[in-house]
Amino acid sequence: MIKNRNLVFLGAPGAGKGTLAQMLCQEMKLAHISTGDILRNEIKNGTDLGKKANSYVTSGGLVPDDLVADMVGKRLLEKDCQNGFVLDGFPRTVNQADLLEKVLVKIGKKIEKVVYFEANEELLIKRLTARLLCKKCNTNFNTIFSPPIKKGICDKCGIELYQRPDDSLETAKDRLKIYNVQTAPLVPYYKKKNLLSVINAELSKEKSYPELIKVLS
Ligand code: ADP
Ligand code: ZN
Repeated sequence: MIKNRNLVFLGAPGAGKGTLAQMLCQEMKLAHISTGDILRNEIKNGTDLGKKANSYVTSGGLVPDDLVADMVGKRLLEKDCQNGFVLDGFPRTVNQADLLEKVLVKIGKKIEKVVYFEANEELLIKRLTARLLCKKCNTNFNTIFSPPIKKGICDKCGIELYQRPDDSLETAKDRLKIYNVQTAPLVPYYKKKNLLSVINAELSKEKSYPELIKVLS
């Protein structure tokens, strides 16, 4: 149903990449590779990588490029990526994009489309600071835009939701600053490679999902 299956989702924190990636991967049987989710898991499990990444993630800074690139390179070798994948939150710097290209050449894969989620900053801040997550299934809720049926409880698992420490107003603002300096240059980078499609990420997920399917078809 969709033509492009090896994908990168690009956009600021709060743009809705994770939410739409989850919807898309479920419907199209793609592997959802969220570097943020993987890092949070490694931190929770106290692995070597988790220990190295912890201070960066909690302060809203970026984990060093080579660490994340290695992590993604390994993940791309797993079997569920054969049918296609969404890279959500990677690459986040031009250097990471270059590292990704090298990894892909090595394993004989290619990015087929980069989807850029466009949204204004005021809305991004609003979304980030009202975001709640399920500890178990990672589903995103939002107290303003998509509240769970029962306050503070995951619709799917029935367990308690939590707020990410880096979703506090101050850290959210820092993350947006870092995005503007380090990640935004990837928009012209992928445009030059003729891989970029833009979708309006200010719409609700119900409205932006069909837009996403359209650009991938
Ligand atoms: P968001 O996109 O909402 O900011 P993520 O869940 O994608 O959040 O990432 C959370 C944190 O994990 C980032 O602020 C950063 O510290 C770290 N991180 C995730 N992906 C990368 C990456 N590609 N490079 C460096 N750090 C990353
Ligand atoms: Zn859940």
